[in-house]
Amino acid sequence: MTDDSTSDRTTTPGTELGGMFPRAFQKEYVTITRGEGHYVWDADGNRYVDAIAGNQNVNIGHGREVVAEAARAQLEELEYASSMLFANEPAMEYTEKIAEFTPDGFEHTWLVSSGSEANESAVKMARQYHYERGNEGKYKVLSRRKSYHGNTGIAMALSGFPARKTKMEPLFDNWPKVPNGSPYRCGFCDDDGGRACGRRCADEVERIIQQEGPETVAAFITEPVTGAANAGASPHDGYFERIRELCDEYDILFIVDEVMTGFGRTGENFAIEHWDVTPDIITSAKGMSGGYSPIGGTMPHRRVANVFEDVADGFQHGHTYCFNPASAAIGSAVLDYMTERDLVANARDVGGYLRERCEEFYEYDMVGDVRGKGLMLGVEFVADRETKEPLDATGSEFQSLLFETGLDEGVLTYPSGGHVNGSEGDHTLITPPLTIDHGAADDIVDRLHATFERVEATLSN
Ligand code: PMP
Repeated sequence: MTDDSTSDRTTTPGTELGGMFPRAFQKEYVTITRGEGHYVWDADGNRYVDAIAGNQNVNIGHGREVVAEAARAQLEELEYASSMLFANEPAMEYTEKIAEFTPDGFEHTWLVSSGSEANESAVKMARQYHYERGNEGKYKVLSRRKSYHGNTGIAMALSGFPARKTKMEPLFDNWPKVPNGSPYRCGFCDDDGGRACGRRCADEVERIIQQEGPETVAAFITEPVTGAANAGASPHDGYFERIRELCDEYDILFIVDEVMTGFGRTGENFAIEHWDVTPDIITSAKGMSGGYSPIGGTMPHRRVANVFEDVADGFQHGHTYCFNPASAAIGSAVLDYMTERDLVANARDVGGYLRERCEEFYEYDMVGDVRGKGLMLGVEFVADRETKEPLDATGSEFQSLLFETGLDEGVLTYPSGGHVNGSEGDHTLITPPLTIDHGAADDIVDRLHATFERVEATLSN
């Protein structure tokens, strides 16, 4: 165990938390009471290194006073104005700032309150885009296996993540899923070291488009670096470039889900900038607000936004909390915090160092793959490294073992994956706040060493 390990913890059964259900991997909850920088404390005063930035969203760290001050000032001035009826200054200022931060050609943001809403909005935007151009028949949205796009109706249907949706099926529109296309467990191509594979996986996308009928396909959605469904994995080189070509050829909008990756997490402002590809719509959420308020955004490229300009009633969509002034003021303060300190460069620099140190985890037989970009890293666990056979423990047993051992060692982990209906693979994300330095990266690695050592020992008993 590490020096300040925290095995004395008060827990509350999930069934006693008013209205909350226990999750499969956590029957009892620790109560978190305070956060500062990359640390949080529980009700017993135990301190944890937040190696997952809350839920991959607390990108600027916990407890930043400037954000609290911005929120207070805005709440005193104007807490709410309906975006159906009015403009408001904080939302206009915030969307202008976002336009400075997004790649060239992205000038607009449709502000919502979560990642799921951002993706629902993107799908509706894509469908109306085709409708306005006389292509009402284009309604399907293709997505990849091993993907997560959210828990609302359309977003859940898009997600290639059985562990999060099987009990909800049949879903509203379970559109086709295309091969995942990531090198580890490609599951489609022969193992050729990933060289030709990107192209062949994307060729399979073309086959599916043709099978479905291109006149019915509105959009293709993908995470550039996958989060919960395949911790830190990206497709083979060449995949996104080929997808862009296919989208152009068949008049399909290319949506990148940057809910987790956007706003600097991978060491670029947006993860798709790691490739030479311009999408049609970017969605984002988590890092936008850094966890200080529920915020999401759907950002169409100019060529998509232009189609809505002459439409009398605009985008046929909206929620009560779209363009919320208080959230916008918070989002602005968070973005200022990031840009003033160049946290994207820090994610690149410290992320590179952390990634190198994470290679040490291959000393555990249960570690099959270490991957990721910037401060969005993932470790996949296996029963056998050679065959890549998944662990024997059920997903939830392994997830609770990892999470609780991590708590003992004073580090937060994000166990994900599972074994439901072929969504094989247990993994954990390592996604600390973008503010960490090399010393904090070392601390995370040391605590993860202590955690993995104990988990491996338990598994082999
Ligand atoms: N897309 C991705 C890539 C995500 O990681 C998530 C959240 N984990 C979502 C969508 C859904 O976002 P939210 O939970 O804010 O609805």
